[in-house]
Formats: sequence, structure tokens, C-alpha cells
Amino acid sequence: MPVSTPFARQCEHLPADLADKPVGSVRLIRADLVRWQKILNGNGWGTPYWAHKDGGTGWTVLQRLVFDEECVAAGTPTQDGFAQKLLGPVINAFATPDQKAEHIPRILKGERLWCQGFSEPSSGSDLASLRTRADRDGDHYIVNGQKIWTSYAHESDWIFLLVRTDADAKKQAGISFLLVDMQTPGIAVRPIRSIDDCHHLPERDVL
Ligand SMILES: Cc1cc2nc3c(=O)[nH]c(=O)nc-3n(C[C@H](O)[C@H](O)[C@H](O)COP(=O)(O)OP(=O)(O)OC[C@H]3O[C@@H](n4cnc5c(N)ncnc54)[C@H](O)[C@@H]3O)c2cc1C
Repeated sequence: MPVSTPFARQCEHLPADLADKPVGSVRLIRADLVRWQKILNGNGWGTPYWAHKDGGTGWTVLQRLVFDEECVAAGTPTQDGFAQKLLGPVINAFATPDQKAEHIPRILKGERLWCQGFSEPSSGSDLASLRTRADRDGDHYIVNGQKIWTSYAHESDWIFLLVRTDADAKKQAGISFLLVDMQTPGIAVRPIRSIDDCHHLPERDVL
């Protein structure tokens, strides 16, 4: 790899004790994810997949592919894929200015890790059958239900949830996307031990 490429320069910032950690472990611990995110952000690469106007690098798809390949080749930790690839683009496209101000800087700095609350015990491939519901109560929602296979739920600060907000609509409609603080009273996270003897796929109740 020529040292003049930005990717080579980035490798110089990869602490030796973080290199190749993903190869040796199924999941990185929170501290590693946060540390690597801060290093990337400090070099202007906090969100490699986002447009310039949203605070990202503005890279083309090909450039992102090169970045990903070089990171794997260098043995870097991953970033918070939920925040970077799933939640971030939704916030950038649809959130209010207040929501952006609340969440975007924290994603960039690695101060807030996210998990994805889509799957339910009886709603996997057929996600439109999800039953977790959110009822409007003034300026709040009351959420009731259960999610499962929620990767990183035990290490995340916030979760983006798919919930049913209109029980009368056809099942593919009436679903809303809520951003929820994992410290909200009533949330319970339980580990599910997988075949690799890790427990990175918790289930969670919202009561
Ligand atoms: C490592 C891992 C991490 C995950 N992390 C998350 C997460 O963070 N957040 C989250 O929300 N979800 C997560 N999931 C859940 C995942 O995204 C899927 O929703 C879930 O695995 C599929 O649902 P299920 O396991 O209930 O299987 P089911 O949907 O019940 O499917 C069981 C079997 O039936 C087959 N099948 C289903 N429907 C049909 C059909 N119509 N025709 C033919 N065959 C069919 C499937 O292919 C499968 O073999 C994770 C899953 C894994 C494995």
C-alpha cells in the first residue's frame, strides 16, 4: 500500500493493541468501538458513508468500498454500523433540526452507541407482522412489546425501534420509527447465549 494514500496515513493512527482485534474476537467491546470512532473522527473520517452536507466524507460508493477494504486489510476495529449505515441516513433525511443536533454530534464522536430493535419473537423475516405497539400519550409514546436478536443491546445507549402506531392500518403500514434512550424506565435486556458462547444478541422488553 503506497504511503501517500489517505488510507495508509490512517493506519498510522491505528493503535497496535487495537489492530486485528476483530479477527480474534467475535465482537468488539464498547471501549474499542468508541476509541476507534474518536480516532477516525479526529481525522475527519467520523462518518465515511455520509454526504458532505451531513458532516460525512462525501465519498463515492467506490471510495467507501476502498475504505472498507483497507480497514479490513489493516485489521482496524469496525464502527457502529447501526448508527453509521442504518440510523444516520434516516436522521439525515427525515429528522428535525433538534433531533439532528441531539444525535449527529454524538454519533460522530462515538459518545452514543445504537442498537436496532426490529425483530420480534414471532416477527423475523415477516417484519410487517411486528406487534410492539406505541400509543400516543400527550407528547410521549407508551411502548409495549418485546424485541429479540438485538445485537449490542447490552452495550448501547439508544435504540431505534419499529413499533405499531396504527393497529387499523394494513400490516405493512401503521409502523413508526422511534428513537429511545435505553435507560428509559421499563426497558429490560436479557442475554441470549449463542453457539459461539457469546451473548451479543439480547432480547429486550419494553413495558
Ligand atoms: C447474528 C444476528 C444478529 C442480528 N441482529 C439483529 C438486530 O440487531 N436487530 C434486529 O432487529 N434483528 C437482528 N437479527 C434478526 C435478523 O435480522 C432476522 O430478522 C431474523 O434472524 C429472522 O427471523 P427469525 O430468526 O425469527 O426467522 P424466521 O423469520 O422465523 O425464519 C425461519 C426460517 O424460515 C425461512 N422463511 C421465513 N419466511 C419464509 C418464506 N416466506 N418463504 C420461505 N422461507 C421462509 C427463513 O429463511 C428461515 O430459514 C439478527 C440475526 C442474527 C443472526
